Amino acid sequence: MNYPVSIELQCPFCGEVSDITVDAAEGANSLIEDCTVCCHPIQLVVECEDGEVIAVDISRA
Ligand SMILES: [Zn+2]
Repeated sequence: MNYPVSIELQCPFCGEVSDITVDAAEGANSLIEDCTVCCHPIQLVVECEDGEVIAVDISRA
């Protein structure tokens, strides 16, 4: 079962905010997204519970 959830991602390099979709089905997901503006890789740790995102940790990959 997938729980696609849209979250706001603010780039730690250029500050651009974009919406991305993550799968909220599991407890904690670590993923890397490239910023659509400056193309730097952004490390994301998304914590989910019952199909909802409860915490997002953003850092420079
Ligand atoms: Zn950026």
